[in-house]
Amino acid sequence: MANTFNQDFKLGILGGGQLGRMLIQSGIDFNFNFSVLDPDKNAPCSSLAPFSEGKLTDYDTVMKFGELCDIITIEIENVNTSALKELVRKGKKVFPQPEVIELIQDKRVQKTFYKSNGISTAYFVLTENKDDVARHVRYPMVNKLGKEGYDGRGVQILRGAGDLQHAFDKPGLLEELVPFEKEISVIVARNTHGQVDTFPAVEMVFHPTQNLVEYLFAPAQISTDVAQRADAIARSIIEKLNMVGLLAVEMFVTASGEVLVNEIAPRPHNSGHQTIEANVTSQYEQHLRAITGLPLGKTDLIMPSAMVNLLGEPGFSGPARYAGFEEVMNVKGVHVHLYGKNQTKPFRKMGHVTILDDDIDSLKKKANFVKQTLKVIA
Ligand code: ADP
Repeated sequence: MANTFNQDFKLGILGGGQLGRMLIQSGIDFNFNFSVLDPDKNAPCSSLAPFSEGKLTDYDTVMKFGELCDIITIEIENVNTSALKELVRKGKKVFPQPEVIELIQDKRVQKTFYKSNGISTAYFVLTENKDDVARHVRYPMVNKLGKEGYDGRGVQILRGAGDLQHAFDKPGLLEELVPFEKEISVIVARNTHGQVDTFPAVEMVFHPTQNLVEYLFAPAQISTDVAQRADAIARSIIEKLNMVGLLAVEMFVTASGEVLVNEIAPRPHNSGHQTIEANVTSQYEQHLRAITGLPLGKTDLIMPSAMVNLLGEPGFSGPARYAGFEEVMNVKGVHVHLYGKNQTKPFRKMGHVTILDDDIDSLKKKANFVKQTLKVIA
């Protein structure tokens, strides 16, 4: 007789944002039981699953939440890993493993891991404070905070002595400014049985000042050779970490074809939203398959796609309204995803739009149209 899959478990998600929301959307197909912890009672997941309001960085809160779950996963890295380690000791399954989350929480530890494992990454030096930055800087360089910087908030370029006053005065690092030609991402998954698979590389285009992804194109327009090396790097990282779950590997590609790892995230990622419509299996489904020990799904591209993040329009704060919604819905291949955040503010991630088109030029035109037409205002 064929195996039966025991579905009688509760899957807890630390974090109730859009990534959690899309995980739940996908998990409904498998009839999984979720519960969610988030500090914001109006978080995007709050109305989708049994919801607890509480701090993800608080030991007791995470313990109390985790004790009621069988499998625990994350949709944000900034969580209390001591509690997660204790939950593992108590027999709970925690994927990604707490040690992996801990390594990734600190960019200093991450970079040191790449260096000691022979994974190519930009030259760097660790710094303890502002004076240390001043001592080691060779302009231009990138100054990064070790912990708690995300969406570009812990990253700045130091171009000359005038920028030193803004240098981070906490443990961080200085990194060579990479003159990259492209920024790409490969999402890789590894399940509890050690099966590994990758999604085709995607290419990111960043907002010039906000450091947020503005557009994303899949597949990345890179040579087969670069694609193969990027794929091999992603596989090697997840294997060296011995990690279970989904890992997004962000990389720089230089003009000479060098591939350098920038950073990794052990969860569904902004660079994988388009897999919902554009790939045989979505990143969300893949993550759920990986952590519950199911076979990984095929990752093949169904059609080229673009993904546009829908950010709160500058100058508007308050209850969100969506201008241009009907216009973009009229375009073939456009899929709008709203995250259920009632309040907008400048540059807040309010949703995303995936566009599918066989023709790359037409795809880029549609992405531009969506970007110019659909606006989150108040
Ligand atoms: P975050 O954790 O906030 O996403 P990242 O380390 O990914 O921070 O940096 C944000 C962006 O800043 C990157 O996507 C890239 O565009 C730019 N950046 C980061 N490091 C470098 C570097 N060494 N050289 C050039 N650009 C960089």
